[in-house]
Amino acid sequence: MKRKPTILGTALANFSRAVKILEGEVPKEVLLKIRQCKERIELSLSPQLSDGKIHVFKAFVVRHSEALGPSKGGIRVSPTVTMDDVTGLAMEMTWKCALIGVPFGGGKSGIVADISKFTEEDKEVLVRSFARNAHRHVGPLVYVPAPDMGTNEADMGHVKDALSFSAGAATTQGCYVTGKPIMLGGIPGRKEATGRGVVMCVLQAFQEMGIEPGKATAIVQGTGNVGGVTIKALGEAGVKVVGASDIRRAVYNPAGLDVAALLQHESVTRSVVGFAGGQSVGGAELLELPCDALVPAAAASQINAGNAGRIQAKLIVEGANSPTTPEADEILVARGIRVVPDILANAGGVFVSYLEYTQETQQEQMSAEEVNRRLAARMAERYAQVSGLAREMRMPMREAAMYLAMKNVCLAVMARGMLP
Ligand code: NAD
Repeated sequence: MKRKPTILGTALANFSRAVKILEGEVPKEVLLKIRQCKERIELSLSPQLSDGKIHVFKAFVVRHSEALGPSKGGIRVSPTVTMDDVTGLAMEMTWKCALIGVPFGGGKSGIVADISKFTEEDKEVLVRSFARNAHRHVGPLVYVPAPDMGTNEADMGHVKDALSFSAGAATTQGCYVTGKPIMLGGIPGRKEATGRGVVMCVLQAFQEMGIEPGKATAIVQGTGNVGGVTIKALGEAGVKVVGASDIRRAVYNPAGLDVAALLQHESVTRSVVGFAGGQSVGGAELLELPCDALVPAAAASQINAGNAGRIQAKLIVEGANSPTTPEADEILVARGIRVVPDILANAGGVFVSYLEYTQETQQEQMSAEEVNRRLAARMAERYAQVSGLAREMRMPMREAAMYLAMKNVCLAVMARGMLP
């Protein structure tokens, strides 16, 4: 029987592929070392929620690497998240930070909870409970969390407050968490950074492929932080968004969705369901409909051996982490569909988190213009580097990106030396 694809399985398969290219260039033991996690911690949270009862939740903190600096990676809240998922995501963060050129290692955390029916107050209690319990594993020189699926800017504000409170201070000394509200030391443009970076990749790929944005179509899976911003920025770039989905359903309109009206509908109803400007279709069906660019910006393993043969997009830009399984990757390569991999496509978020980190460390303030200018410059430079290497070495962009990222981590490990 075929095993269900997993985030960790995908991360390890991508790692193994890149190892084959790097083997002649770096010592084997260094490659062995960078495959391992620095630490994997399981926590038990037991907050009292508004029903007056104590509830028990599992949580995980994984620091995959600190070769380049403190571990960086978001907090995922989901009823199905596992230690292995968090491990795979932490590993991907190591490569992402190394590729986009920020001095961080990879980390991630997860809280196993179904918050779909939580009140805002209960969510805050849960997030504060995580922050208190994870306190000794979080810090500007250890692990710096950020938002991920199921968490947002407001949650990062609660994390900062919980940690400041525990320290008996008005604020934390240095940057303990990124993606915070601006008034608490957050940075303008962080919320939008991942989606904006995704769209920069779409446009750069279109240019290479000779596709005019004004004549192009796109489909976006997910209307959360990454998906929502991607949809808006695609619309602003003149790309016709013909389909969008969330966990419940999808809407499709070959003539183009009214992006502003769709996002307004979503912000009020929290779903694309019931949006009148398109035809309602199933989420899985949407991925297979015709478009120039497909942007998965939701869950993992959405493009897999079961549907990769039927994808009609010419280009896939991975807004989500790990949305394509290794089997699907092979099918897409054979079919000539270009894939801009997650560690490049969604790295805009961690790049702007780095700007937030430096801003807070130096007690500085950066303007939205400066943030966006630096984001655009870094995304363009790293996209060109990955795409150029892929062309030169005749390999898919994922392999080129993994090669560059892993080589940077290996060089950092070797530069540090081999003390235990
Ligand atoms: P979010 O919680 O804000 O939104 C998630 C969206 O995905 C929602 O619209 C939800 O309905 C939809 N969704 C969830 N499961 C789905 C499924 N099975 N099918 C279809 N839709 C589904 O999360 P987000 O922050 O936008 O993150 C989305 C993805 O982007 C994740 O893979 C995350 O790891 C990745 N990512 C996020 C950031 C960031 O800055 N937030 C940075 C890098 C990567």
